[in-house]
Amino acid sequence: MTDDPIDRTGLPPRYWETTPPGKMTDREWEALCDGCGKCCLNKLEDEDTGEVALTRVACRLLDDATCRCAKYPTRHRYVPECITLDPATIHQHMYWLPQTCAYRLIHEGRPLYNWHPLISGTAETVHRAGVSVRGMTRSEYDVADDDWEDHIIEEPL
Ligand code: SF4
Ligand code: SF4
Repeated sequence: MTDDPIDRTGLPPRYWETTPPGKMTDREWEALCDGCGKCCLNKLEDEDTGEVALTRVACRLLDDATCRCAKYPTRHRYVPECITLDPATIHQHMYWLPQTCAYRLIHEGRPLYNWHPLISGTAETVHRAGVSVRGMTRSEYDVADDDWEDHIIEEPL
C-alpha cells in the first residue's frame, strides 16, 4: 500500500465539475493528478506524422513502485525539461497526454473515472484499475536512447 502523496483533504466536494480549471486554486489543480505515472514515461515522436508512441522507459526520477516523482518539488534541478501543466497551456499538450489523464479529461469536458483518488478516496484504486505504470517501467538510466524503440508499449487503460 502507498499513501497518497497529494493532499486531497478539505477540497470542495466534486469541485472539478463546477470550477473551471483557470479558477481552481493551486491545490485543486494539483489534486487533479491521479498519480498514474504515465506522463513520466518517455515518448517517441514521428517527425513526419507527429504520431507519439509511448515507451516503458521512464524518467530517471520516476519511482516505479509508487508511480511518483522522487523529487517533485525540486525536479527541475535534475530534469529541466519536465513539463509543468497549467490551465493556460494545457491545450498544447493534448497530443501527448495519456488518454486517462485527468487534465485531459477535464479539458475535454469529460468526467473523471471512479478510480480517481478524488472519487475513490484512495490512491490505490489507480493501481488496482490497471491504469498506472506500477511495476512495468525501465529507468532511462538502463536503456540507451537508441533502444527506446524496442520498448514501445500500449498505454495501460
Ligand atoms: S498522466 Fe496526468 S493524471 Fe497521470 S500522473 Fe501524469 S499528470 Fe497525473
Ligand atoms: S521529473 Fe518527475 S514529474 Fe517530471 S517527468 Fe520526471 S518523474 Fe515525472
